[in-house]
Amino acid sequence: MFLTHLECSRCSRQFDAHRLHTTCPDDGKPLFARYDWNRIAAVLSQETLETRLPTMWRYRELLPVHDEANIVTLGEGFTPLLRCDRLGQTLGMQSLWIKDESQIPTGSFKARGLSMAVSRAKELGVTSVALPTAGNAGGALAAYAARAGMDAHIFAPCDVPVANRIEAQVMGANVTLVDGLITDCGRLVREGAATHGWFDMSTLKEPYRVEGKKTMGLELAEQFHWNLPDVILYPTGGGTGLIGMWKAFEELETLGWIGSQRPRMVSVQAEGCAPIVRAFHRGAEEATPWQNARTVAAGLRVPSAVADFLMLRVLRESGGTAVAVSDEELLEGVSLCAEREGIFACPEGGATVAALRHLLENGTIEPDEHVVLFNTGSGLKYLEVFE
Ligand SMILES: *Cc1c(COP(=O)(O)O)cnc(C)c1O
Repeated sequence: MFLTHLECSRCSRQFDAHRLHTTCPDDGKPLFARYDWNRIAAVLSQETLETRLPTMWRYRELLPVHDEANIVTLGEGFTPLLRCDRLGQTLGMQSLWIKDESQIPTGSFKARGLSMAVSRAKELGVTSVALPTAGNAGGALAAYAARAGMDAHIFAPCDVPVANRIEAQVMGANVTLVDGLITDCGRLVREGAATHGWFDMSTLKEPYRVEGKKTMGLELAEQFHWNLPDVILYPTGGGTGLIGMWKAFEELETLGWIGSQRPRMVSVQAEGCAPIVRAFHRGAEEATPWQNARTVAAGLRVPSAVADFLMLRVLRESGGTAVAVSDEELLEGVSLCAEREGIFACPEGGATVAALRHLLENGTIEPDEHVVLFNTGSGLKYLEVFE
């Protein structure tokens, strides 16, 4: 296929893509997959894409798996982009859309990253994998590892949503509940990787999860007929989706399929854990770890992220911003979205509705702009939050 090498996102050092890697050994920063764009442009057209199945694998030339036989799939991707006129009316907006990731295997967009990462791990001969998770990544890894016949070791905080714990256990993963946060779980994964040889699938430490999440940006562009919206609101934890979509837009411009115009990217976090929002408004290039992280939006409970500098760069380059909302506001956002549109969003998705309200009120977003909210998962995975 068309993957040529991996490249450090900070120091640009290059690595052989036929070998297993985590982060750059020099500076510990994420590695990005790089492709041969001349060859891709010669074989792939927008018309060819239209003939393909509606999954994220329709973009296979832009993805890192060499041999299609190694693809581990449950049919993920190409989720609906829903026009939301009733919710829009309530908020006073004319062109509001939700990219609805609740309709995806394992009920959250983590499926994209883990389908990709498990496929590449299989291709490179891995048999046991591990990751720290705030919830949904564990369920997704368990599912794709089961389908690939790999052992999965999952470390989650003990107050992880019940659905995430149960789904991972039912799918045969080894689940360890940790009295701590995702960062504490990460430490245990690193130890296990060193002693047992597990491959560490931590987001943005493993180079290919971001390639899976990149497909959200590819889909948005295709679903909008290769015109991007004005603003994207994205609930941000580790930031893989934000960074992945930005990478997708750069790659589509390289292909000549879109121009240089970009959406303003908005990172939405919870008031109880908002390291990126704080760093953005301080003008910092990196975030400092958040103390006592607390929110019902489990996916946003990420006190420090390896790719903080990349997220902050995307927000600034795009002319976007970062917004924190309270748990009360994000749950109201879930209700509003459910009552007006019939979409039972996860708390993280509800946070984008609440953030949109703030940004309309303070004039950052105009009522006639084209705005996309990401609902990153299903509310059904968080039933205890809604009781
Ligand atoms: C993981 C997760 C997030 C955060 O995603 P990142 O790409 O890591 O920032 C948001 N919402 C849900 C439902 C999640 O599971």
